[in-house]
Formats: sequence, C-alpha cells, structure tokens
Amino acid sequence: MKGKTKLIKKDGTRLDGRKPDELRPVRMEVGVLKNADGSALVEMGRTKVIAAVYGPREIHPKHLTLPDRAILRCRYHMAPFSTTDRKSPAPSRREIELSKVIREGLESVVFTELYPRTTIDVFIEVLQADGGTRTAGITAASLALADAGIPMKDLVAGVAVGKVNGILVLDINEVEDEYGEADMPVAMMPSFGEITLLQLNGVLTPEEFEEALKLAEKGIRQLYEHQKEALRKKYSLQKEEV
Ligand code: ADP
Repeated sequence: MKGKTKLIKKDGTRLDGRKPDELRPVRMEVGVLKNADGSALVEMGRTKVIAAVYGPREIHPKHLTLPDRAILRCRYHMAPFSTTDRKSPAPSRREIELSKVIREGLESVVFTELYPRTTIDVFIEVLQADGGTRTAGITAASLALADAGIPMKDLVAGVAVGKVNGILVLDINEVEDEYGEADMPVAMMPSFGEITLLQLNGVLTPEEFEEALKLAEKGIRQLYEHQKEALRKKYSLQKEEV
C-alpha cells in the first residue's frame, strides 16, 4: 500500500542497500547501433534503455515540413519483454504521453534552426524496466543526439526523485515508485541548471519540493559526468586510431 510499505530499513538505507541520496549503478555507452546516425545505451541499475537518432533527414509525410527549422520527432516505447508481465507492443496512452514530454524535454536544447525542412527522429526503446525509464530515456536520447553530431546547447540528463516513508530519495526504482508517496522525474541541462522536464505524481510540501529539486540536481550532475565520459570514450579512442 502507498506510504505503508516499509521501504527504508532501520539503519536508514533503502531495500537495495542505497543511501537516500545515492544513484543506482550507472552504465553509459555511445555508438551501440551501426545503422543509426547516433545511438546510446543507458543503464540505471536494472533499468536499461537504448536510444537511436536518425537525421537530420527528409520528412515523410512532406506536409509536416517547417521552412525555418527541423522538426524533432520522438518515440518512447517499452519492449514487450521489458517488464515481468508481457507488455502489449502497441503504443499505450502512457507511451504516447512520455514520447511528448521527452520530445519537449529535448526540443529546447537542439539547434533545430540549423536544419530547416528536415526531421530529426529519436527512438527510445526500453529493454528492461525498473523505474525511471523516461529519465533514463531522455539521458540516452541526448547522448545519441550528440553521437549523431547534432549541435545542442547542452546535454540533457534526468533522474526521478521520490518520497518513501516520509524520506526523499534519489533515483527511485519500480518498488519505490509503486509504494512510495510521491515521485518526481526531473531533466535538466546540467551546465545551465535549466529544467527541461518536470513532473510530479503525489504530494510534496513546498519545502520538500525545493529539497527534492536539489537532490535531483545533485544526481543529474553525476549523470552528466558519466555522459561526458561515455562520449570521450568513443571519440578520444577514434582520435588515437587515426
Ligand atoms: P518511469 O519508468 O519513467 O518511472 P512510470 O512511473 O510510469 O514511468 O513507471 C514506473 C515503472 O513501472 C516503470 O519503470 C516500469 O518498471 C513499470 N511499468 C510501467 N508501465 C508498465 C507496464 N505497462 N507493465 C509493467 N510495468 C510497467
């Protein structure tokens, strides 16, 4: 039951052993798909997401063309095998909503005006879901956009903060999402501290909200370091090979 299930142990740690302000183990890799113009894999604990970027390229259907900038299209999808109960492969209302909020979370960073009359297509495929898939998705998508060489103001990284047993915790997993009192996914441009995605499910006091935002920012700064490291790993290696 929400708020009643014990999610914080006597010693103050969470069921998976993390401290309240600790991220799950993070893994990021860029350039994981050969056919895409840019791609990235992001793992946050058991949550595993892949992003593929195609473009800038010609738009079909043509009537969507904009004369002064590229359009950004985004599809968030959970693979049928990504959850314990098989999920229907057809796009659900949730997936349609998440595609929209992720697109809006990326639109403000991409210099779309550099590529008029084209589309940049972003596909996010959740391979394994254990909470925080929209934020892992946006983190992976911005890495894939960078890998595709698309100019951006900044990278975008995201994480969900939650309130469980009255305590604010960073990077919630599925159990904490399901049985906690509140969850708040946040994505930011880390260099500017600007928020590009913010949602809140549940109730937080104004003080808790401020604290939750600070906690999210702390996690996002750590994720940003992982993102830069993943890009360096691919591109500095290539430099040495030349
Ligand atoms: P997010 O993944 O961004 O946290 P939600 O809060 O909607 O988004 O979902 C939380 C978690 O619930 C997901 O990460 C996933 O583990 C699980 N979940 C969501 N939708 C389904 C579904 N259709 N079937 C099974 N599990 C799901």
